[in-house]
Amino acid sequence: MSAAIPAALRHPLLAEAGVLHGFGVRGSVIPEGILRPQQVHGAAVARIEAGDGQGLTPAEADAVVSRTAGIPVAVATADCVPILACSEDGYAVAAIHAGWRGLAQGVIEAGIEALGGLSGPGMRLRAVVGPHIGICCYEVDEPVLSALGSRFARDLETASRPSRAGHAYLDLGRLAAAALGRAGVEAGARGVIPDSCTRCGVERFHSYRRDGEAAGRMVHFVGALARP
Ligand SMILES: [Zn+2]
Repeated sequence: MSAAIPAALRHPLLAEAGVLHGFGVRGSVIPEGILRPQQVHGAAVARIEAGDGQGLTPAEADAVVSRTAGIPVAVATADCVPILACSEDGYAVAAIHAGWRGLAQGVIEAGIEALGGLSGPGMRLRAVVGPHIGICCYEVDEPVLSALGSRFARDLETASRPSRAGHAYLDLGRLAAAALGRAGVEAGARGVIPDSCTRCGVERFHSYRRDGEAAGRMVHFVGALARP
């Protein structure tokens, strides 16, 4: 048995675009020099500050976009949905953190819109949904469902399965895919990391629902290609 350090998870859609990226797992290495916002379960989008690239504006955000090569941007999760995205040419990237609150507020749409703005008109975008708590393990109550209802009316029906009274199991990944589609990421340009329920995956993932306040976090990063 080797004690190899586990590798962050990569996806062909992002690899083909040439962007540095990885969805974190337990014990995977976080690249040096990444920038990540202070996440607040909102829908604000941060950008690398012009000039020195030493900070993010605003500091509090749940999506971060960049076209600065050499400074990967990142979000951290432990059950919420991480999304890494890029322009097809690889020169612009986005990392998005979406729990139910962020989904309800439109953080995915806001992040993808900002990525589109950085990418330029007509540029196709790619996005991959990373490890998050699966419908197998994610029971929510009526207030959560009603918060999501106005943005996801029809999608919420297909993404939820009633459980006990006033509760349902919820497929956050399906809602994320719907939001990506609405934001203009075509079906063929959307990917997922398969078999990656964070709560079921005891060995591979941190999970807030499983481990509570003691849960660690996975860091998911993406870095733009350098322009020639
Ligand atoms: Zn599960």
